[in-house]
Parts: sequence; structure tokens; C-alpha cells
Amino acid sequence: MTAARRLMVVAAHPDDESMGFGGVLARYASEGAGTFLVTATRGERGRYFGHLAGSAEHPGRAALSSIRERELRAAAAVLGVGHVAVLDYRDQQIDQVAVNDGVPAIVEQIRRARPHVVLTFAPDGAYGHTDHIAISQLTTAAIVAATDASYDAGRDLGRPHVVSKLYHLAWNARAWAAYEAAFRKLVFTVDGVERQATPWPDWAVTTVIDTRQWWPAVWRAVSCHESQVSAYAALQGLGPDQREAPWGSLSFYRVFSLVNAGRQRESDLFEGIDS
Ligand SMILES: [Zn+2]
Repeated sequence: MTAARRLMVVAAHPDDESMGFGGVLARYASEGAGTFLVTATRGERGRYFGHLAGSAEHPGRAALSSIRERELRAAAAVLGVGHVAVLDYRDQQIDQVAVNDGVPAIVEQIRRARPHVVLTFAPDGAYGHTDHIAISQLTTAAIVAATDASYDAGRDLGRPHVVSKLYHLAWNARAWAAYEAAFRKLVFTVDGVERQATPWPDWAVTTVIDTRQWWPAVWRAVSCHESQVSAYAALQGLGPDQREAPWGSLSFYRVFSLVNAGRQRESDLFEGIDS
């Protein structure tokens, strides 16, 4: 039943789909799975070719929002993603979205796409990013609510759907080292406290997907985000081995599964679903 496989990624910003999940989106799309991407914001608070918002060279948030949505859709097309939904949340403010807005919006996407497998960020937000943490929480709540017709309370969010497996992105120390060597050290400051990349211990990783064959597609997808070029300029100087390093395989933590369990490490997100 390979053709019937359905995979959904719920991300926070344009570029999360390529930098974080690109390898699995490209791989499963190329293998014929239905692939669905939900991106919560348009990343309008980002820089523009390195220029800060408010500077003469920055086009302003409204324009950047359109530019980044275009880049997102171009990247998704390169990855072969079948369907892209952009929610209308403000960049760097997802943690202020009311659950009564944020959860139903994702419930609707889940019920429409009817994925077997959902991927999102872990509660560590990859490097403590508040948007990543918030989207992880909203997505988890939405998976629960999507199963329950009584959740709708007069809204029409679609027919209830049971997601079979939920995964969190779980990069280990090696993957983070490769990523930060290729790009930059990730630091996110919240209320005066510095947060950094939080590598997962290898023993906690439940699932490793071989995406080596797809790193060139991921690289092309990352390159679609050209307005964010300052963050990606480093890539230009890297050799193939270094470009492959962050994306040769992707690691996940299986948060729950209705179809399989146990300590054995998975090599396929759909393990237990096809059989
Ligand atoms: Zn992000």
C-alpha cells in the first residue's frame, strides 16, 4: 500500500521544511507518498539579504512575507511536496496564539490531509525557538482533537481522523555539529536567557531515515530561500561531503505509535503501518 502512504510536516517558518525535514519530504515524495506541509508563519520578521527590518534595503514585513511565501512554495516544489498550507500566524509570536485558534487550524489540515504520520519539532524547539516549541504543542493538541467529532463545537473542521504515528525532530550531536559548521552557531535569546541547539542523545533516537540520496534536492530547496542568503552563504563554500553531512540521514523521536512499539530502531517512518 505504498501509494497510499500519507505524511504531514507541521513547521513554523519558511525554510524549516528544507533545513529540518527536507530529506524525508523529498524521499517519501519520490517514493510516491502523499506529502503535506503546514507552515504556521511567513517568516516576515527575518532579515532580507542580511538587512535588518527598518533599514533602507529591507522591503518591510508585508513585502518580505510575500517573498518568503514564494520561496517556501518554490522549495516545497523542489522537494516534491504535494500540498502546502500556510497558516496566517505572526513570525515569532506563535506562542501567543490562542489555543482556540491554533489547534482548530491544524485540526482542519490534519482532517483534510488524513496523514498516517505527522512530523514536527520536539519540545526543545531545536534550539529553544519559541515558535518551534509552540508549533510542537499546538500540533500535539491538534492530533488529539482531530480524533474527536465533539471538539468541533459548531465549526466544520472535517471528518475525524486518527493519526497513527507522531514524530519529533531529534538531531544528535553529530548532526548539530555538521549543521553549525555549515551554517552558524544557533543562539536564541528569550527574556535575557540564551538558548542553544540541544542535541538528542543517540540512545533516545527511535528512528533514523537514510536520506543520503536526496541531499542534492534538499540543498536546492534550501537555496530557494534566497532572501535569507546571509544564513546560507556559508553553503556556497562547502564541498559535497560537508553539504551532505547535516542531511545524509535524519533522526526522529517516535512520540507515539498506534501500530508498533519497542526498543528496536526504525529505519522507516511508516514501519507498522504497511503491514
Ligand atoms: Zn524555524
